[in-house]
Amino acid sequence: MSHRCAIVGAGPAGIYAAEILAEEHGIEVDIFEALPVPCGLVRYGVAPDHFSIRSVRDKLVQTLDHPKVRFFGNVTIGRDVSVSDLSEWYDAVIYTYGASQDRRLSIPGEDHPMSIPATEFVRWYTGHPDAGDFSQHLASATNVVVIGLGNVAVDVTRILVKPIAELETTDMPEHVLEALRQSSVRHVHVVGRRGPQHGTFTTKELKELGELSGVGVSVHAEDLPANDQEASNGNRVIERNLAVLREWSTRESDTDSPGSIEFHFWSKPEEIDIAAQVIRVERMEIGPTGDLQGTGNLVEIPVDLVIRSVGYRGESLEGLIFDSAQGVIPHSEGKVDQSSDAYVAGWIKRGPSGIIGTNKKDASATVLTLVASLDGASSRSIPSEKVIEELAHRNISFVDVEGWKRIDTAERSLGAIQGRERTTIHERQQLLAIAGGTTQST
Ligand code: NAP
Repeated sequence: MSHRCAIVGAGPAGIYAAEILAEEHGIEVDIFEALPVPCGLVRYGVAPDHFSIRSVRDKLVQTLDHPKVRFFGNVTIGRDVSVSDLSEWYDAVIYTYGASQDRRLSIPGEDHPMSIPATEFVRWYTGHPDAGDFSQHLASATNVVVIGLGNVAVDVTRILVKPIAELETTDMPEHVLEALRQSSVRHVHVVGRRGPQHGTFTTKELKELGELSGVGVSVHAEDLPANDQEASNGNRVIERNLAVLREWSTRESDTDSPGSIEFHFWSKPEEIDIAAQVIRVERMEIGPTGDLQGTGNLVEIPVDLVIRSVGYRGESLEGLIFDSAQGVIPHSEGKVDQSSDAYVAGWIKRGPSGIIGTNKKDASATVLTLVASLDGASSRSIPSEKVIEELAHRNISFVDVEGWKRIDTAERSLGAIQGRERTTIHERQQLLAIAGGTTQST
């Protein structure tokens, strides 16, 4: 019998790994996914108004139709099936379950109900079945502070103030659009502990903030470096970011704009005080040794709602070694340390960085290591039918590729009624009912 592998997580890293294993090496792959639907962060991370990046999923789902690939949605590894079960059933397992937790700031006020992680907020506006509901937050906030200078902070900022008509063409669920229609958010303060030259946002994404109709954007000129070329040190992205931010620093403030975005660089959050409607930040500078240091100068920024966008973090999985300081699974060239058959790819391997395409190279490197270790060895795996029997025995009703296609069709039909390409269905029970064929439409 040919080798059989499992993949845990149907995000881009998992699907790319499956494609390479099946297509280039003729290896059978079973993909396990905790959600009823595939695509991971392409569905639940990429902003709905970024149509071309989101369209990557049309290509990703094609892999699920490969004759050597099987999709098992709605199966949670670590709960329904253990790491040791997978080890028994397959010749090798690639863990690609990403980084779903938020990093902590560890400052007073961080856990106030009006201080939420961007990871959760993004899940909400993309229609993730396990997301909280932030309608009330938006209905009661005028000033929002977004902490962080990465692309997620930029996405969140844009979604908060983008004209609703431009979001109505996306696949955002209707309850999210309604909350954005009712939102009282007017001013977004983007707060970063370091300078404009240290932002991890990319220029294309940054620039979009300056192009939003009815939204004034401002940067404090004194936050910019004395010399952009010196500060960017040959890095073209930084150079381009600085040019954008410098232009914004010269814009006349438009007090008539219904919305505003204000950047506060060199501002390290010290305390979130929702009762006083402020966040206290310490002004920062680069010290003589080149390190970031506090100036002792505290400043208050008005706030009703804080969205903390300081990065994602991976979670441990019982049965696998874990580096809790970095939030990743330690490995060597993709093979998990202290394991004979476990591999990693994507964010749980390298941390939360890079673009979607980065996962292809990453998955490819892991597959190389995996295939080399299987070379010449006979298979010890069990057939797919046995896996299905085992899941049935445990009362786990999984979503297969046909079930996913029924969800896809239902979402497209719902979108068509509303004059758009798709509307995301966000309730798990509804997704499962549609996948199981018990509900045909919404
Ligand atoms: P990120 O780029 O790592 O940004 C995290 C931000 O949080 C940084 O500005 C960081 O500042 C700040 N931060 C971390 N700890 C902090 C603390 N204790 N106090 C204050 N600030 C703190 O992460 P991300 O924005 O979550 O994005 C994750 C990945 O997804 C990135 O690779 C990103 O490019 C990608 N992504 C891409 C797109 C797109 O292409 N359109 C969209 C969304 C996400 P320091 O630098 O000072 O640590």
